[in-house]
Amino acid sequence: MSLQSLLEQATNPLEPGSTVSNPFSTDSFDAAVMSTYTRFPLALERGAGCRVWDTQGKEYLDFVAGIATCTLGHAHPAMVEAVTRQIQKLHHVSNLYYIPEQGELAQWIIQHSCAERVFFCNSGAEANEAAIKLARKYAHTVMDIEKPIIVTANASFHGRTLATITATGQPKYQKYFDPLVPGFHYVPYNDIGAVESAISELDEGDYRVAAILIEPLQGEGGVRPGDTTYFRRLREICDETGVLLIFDEVQVGMGRSGKLWGYEHLGVEPDIFTSAKGLGGGIPIGAMMSKKFCDVFQPGEHASTFGGNPFVCGVALAVCQTLEKENILQNVQERGEQLREGLRAIALKYPHHITEVRGWGLINGLELQADIQLTAADIVKAAIQQGLLLVPAGAKVLRFVPPLIVTEAEINTALQAVDQVLSTVTQ
Ligand SMILES: *Cc1c(COP(=O)(O)O)cnc(C)c1O
Repeated sequence: MSLQSLLEQATNPLEPGSTVSNPFSTDSFDAAVMSTYTRFPLALERGAGCRVWDTQGKEYLDFVAGIATCTLGHAHPAMVEAVTRQIQKLHHVSNLYYIPEQGELAQWIIQHSCAERVFFCNSGAEANEAAIKLARKYAHTVMDIEKPIIVTANASFHGRTLATITATGQPKYQKYFDPLVPGFHYVPYNDIGAVESAISELDEGDYRVAAILIEPLQGEGGVRPGDTTYFRRLREICDETGVLLIFDEVQVGMGRSGKLWGYEHLGVEPDIFTSAKGLGGGIPIGAMMSKKFCDVFQPGEHASTFGGNPFVCGVALAVCQTLEKENILQNVQERGEQLREGLRAIALKYPHHITEVRGWGLINGLELQADIQLTAADIVKAAIQQGLLLVPAGAKVLRFVPPLIVTEAEINTALQAVDQVLSTVTQ
């Protein structure tokens, strides 16, 4: 079935007068599931393209895409085909054996990036965890550092495992989970002096900086693009000192920025980089890529039961090939321009409420004034009423991360909804 016919069929998910087949209760959900999220009172049941429907049959334009994950939107024929094919053929074995789909996906990534070798896991946090372990082994075995330190940025986000909340330069994610993992140091983002002094000051006794772990564009931290001069200098410093340069591409990578990898915007290549969110178009997969030091890990030193199984790799490969075949990066660039232009026009209408619009491709943020009451979450709630799904990136930034297949008309609809919401909430 083509995407077009799926979309047409999906326009009226419920016949007039029909009842919802499976009434949904938030109370029974909350009684059964741990409250690790502040959930909006919305239960989504089905999707097609950039649209989703709740259990009441109400339609929404999805500018969250599972938080920058559903690259090809919902129910894309290429994904439906790959999922069906792979589950019928073979879905899971073990890394005790060769998995052809895993090899093919790794080859695709290598052909389309600076990577020389890939390790597969199941999430962004795990990919970063693998990078942290690799950096430590590199420090001990190649650099002869007894107590390696990994430098990360303030306002960064690297995941929710113990090591990755420690890497994350935001105390709110670390509170109550101490003792944290030793060996991390934080510096302000886009501030080269801070990195230089960290590297010289932390060179004491057995301690030394072994790696810098950083996002090319900070996603959760407020959609903040990296500065080209800063990243070029980081590359030089790492080349001079042997410090590993590790990019967390979990959110910005896989085409979201309008280029396949965020680092392409900065004109520098990392030694190691990680991917997850968009890589499988919404099926759980993570990956760590290395350009150098590909043989640091020896058999038995790192592993994952599910990592790189035939199912996720077969589907992720279909997502990658579709990105390429349908020239989706060009759509990301054009729709991103259109979105930012529209948001900037809106920002001019509300100068007392909006400070800035920024982003790359289809990862964009609209920042609210710090000294007003209004938060990004307030706008997200009002937008739900208007049929538009958005997600905050911190308290004051509204994030726009639609599927990469979003159309010109859908961007216009979203812009109208944002304008409508702002005219209501700013009154
Ligand atoms: C989402 C995210 C992670 C964590 O990914 P999970 O799949 O939730 O573990 C790590 N780094 C960045 C930059 C992210 O955006």
